[in-house]
Order: sequence, then C-alpha cells, then structure tokens
Amino acid sequence: MPQSSLQKRRDRPCHLAIVVPCFNEEDVLPLSIATLLQQLREMIDADQCTKDSYVVLVDDGSSDSTWDVIEEAVNDHVGSFRGLRLARNVGHQAALLAGLDYANGRCDAAISIDADLQDDIDAMPRMIDAYRTGAELVLGVRKSRDVDTWFKRNSAVGFYRVLRWMGVDLVENHADFRLMSAAALRHLSEFSEYNLFLRGLVPMLHSRIETVTYDRSERAAGETKYPTRKMLSLAWNGITSFSVQPLRFISAMGFLVFFITLALLAYAMVGVFSGQVIPGWASVVIPLYLLGGLLMISLGMVGEYIAKLFLEAKQRPRFFVDTIVGDPTRNE
Ligand code: UDP
Ligand code: MG
Repeated sequence: MPQSSLQKRRDRPCHLAIVVPCFNEEDVLPLSIATLLQQLREMIDADQCTKDSYVVLVDDGSSDSTWDVIEEAVNDHVGSFRGLRLARNVGHQAALLAGLDYANGRCDAAISIDADLQDDIDAMPRMIDAYRTGAELVLGVRKSRDVDTWFKRNSAVGFYRVLRWMGVDLVENHADFRLMSAAALRHLSEFSEYNLFLRGLVPMLHSRIETVTYDRSERAAGETKYPTRKMLSLAWNGITSFSVQPLRFISAMGFLVFFITLALLAYAMVGVFSGQVIPGWASVVIPLYLLGGLLMISLGMVGEYIAKLFLEAKQRPRFFVDTIVGDPTRNE
C-alpha cells in the first residue's frame, strides 16, 4: 500500500458500516441495538470511526416484528442506524451479502456480525486498529467453542478438516465476523456466484489479511436460526462451491473397481484352467449390487455439480432489496 494512503488511514478516523443480518430476531434485537449503539459511540469518542458511521440492519424476510424493531431504531437514533428490508428470506449468506453490497461505496470499512452478538463486539476496535495499520481484511477467530453444544463443536471441527482435505482454503474457527475494507468490498462485488460461501471467498479478495481472536458467548435471547439441516447445507455448499475433489474421488473409485475386476478375472481364469468351477451366485450378485450402489452415488455427485452449474448459468439475482430506511442520501 502506498505510504500516503497508509498515512491517511492512520491519521483519520474510519467511516465504518456495521452490517447485521437479522432473521426473526425480535427477541434479541432490542438488546443488540442498544449494545451496538453503545459500541459505536465509544468508537466515535475514541476517534476510531467518524461521526457518520452507522449500523445497517438487514431484515432477511422475517415473519415476526423484526422490521418494526428496525424501523424504531432508525427513527430513535437518527444517523446511527439504517434498515434494509429484503423482499423474502434468502438465508444468512445472501442476506449478509445484501448488507455488504449496500455498504460497498458507502464506507471506508464494513464489519459484519450476527444479530445475536454471540461474537464479541469488543473485538471491533482491534479490527479497526488492524485496518488502520494496513490490513484489508481482518478476520474474527474464536478462541474456544466452550459454549457450543457437543454436536456443533465436533461437527464444526470435522467440517473444517474435511474442507481442508478437499483443498478449500479456510481459516479455522472464523465464521462471518470480519472487517472488510472498501477495496475488499469492491473486489467482493465482482463475484457474481449464486451459491455463495463467503468464508471460502474471503481469502481470495486480498492478501493483506489479519486475524483478531475473541471469545464467543451464548446467544443472549431467541433461538438459533441455523438448525442442523441448514448447517449441513452450508457445509455441502462450501465443499461443492470450492472443491472438485468429490468428482476426482469418483474417477479414483472407478479405477479402483476396474483394477479389482481385473484381479477377479485373473482369479477366475486360474479357476477355469485348474478345473475348479465356482458355484457363482455370490460372485455375481454382490458385485452387481455393489457397482449399482457406487454408480448411483457417483451419478448423484456429478448431478450435484450439474445442478450447481444450472443455477449459476441462470445468473439469477441473489436477493431483492424491498425497502431502505435511514439512508441520508435518499428521499423516503
Ligand atoms: N440469519 C439470516 N437468515 C436466515 C438465517 C439466519 O439472516 O435465514 C441470521 C440470523 O438472524 C443471525 C445470523 O444469521 O444474525 C446467524 O444465525 P444464528 O445466530 O441463528 O446461527 P448460529 O450462531 O446459531 O450458528
Ligand atoms: Mg448465533
């Protein structure tokens, strides 16, 4: 980075946008709003961010009173909050993207954080410090997973291991709590993929990456919006969006079966010449089912990638913004 722009970052407070996706968060949101406001004010007082820094609350098609809570915050604390209402529920990753897309061009840096504030917002000032010393991406990394259930903790560890094995470059224990500079946001906006796995994309956006560690606490109120089904689908999406390893695995399996068959053939030939004829039922039926199963799994796996291509080829929009409130440059 040129010395002059680094100097600018150091000298001036940063124009910050905090992006928060919210889906049916009426229970926890009032508390989160108060905490975020407090944090924002502290950072402004400490000259870390500018007075017009703000929080963008993205309502991901909630069916409860989340939007009312957001509108109230926007009206009560003019300038500090903005609300983005999506036309329908598109899921955490796309909702986050909608918020980041809004922040692109409207800030020096954006920090994304979940609405339940499980991620420690005290790490924000440290993220800004890292940004001001030249980082374009600052990733929040959890120290421990003590507060998670046994299942979530172990499935997460397994997930990172499998992904790494498949060649996906992920920072362990980093979820979606991160700071992205204006440049990183601009780079992100060039990616138009429909199947979004932000965690996997982030390392591709810039090389000046730093990490900040923090402790993750329990959800303050409300329930998790990530049931096991959604978690598995996120994991699967992560694998198939970033790795072709499963497809290679199919070819490897094909070769293996082929060579085993050759060996069996040799064995059978020996049997014929030595006059011992195998009764034959098991040796026919077992490979038949085995191969049938393998073939179906393989086809399914290939189909999974084709489905992905199908979705990408359509180039469908990933979200629709229905309403924006609290944006000073718009007439509402
Ligand atoms: N979320 C969302 N859309 C969804 C599901 C979740 O915007 O369809 C948001 C949710 O409001 C929260 C964040 O994504 O801010 C993470 O969800 P949650 O805290 O329930 O996940 P967990 O921490 O349990 O993995
Ligand atoms: Mg959570």
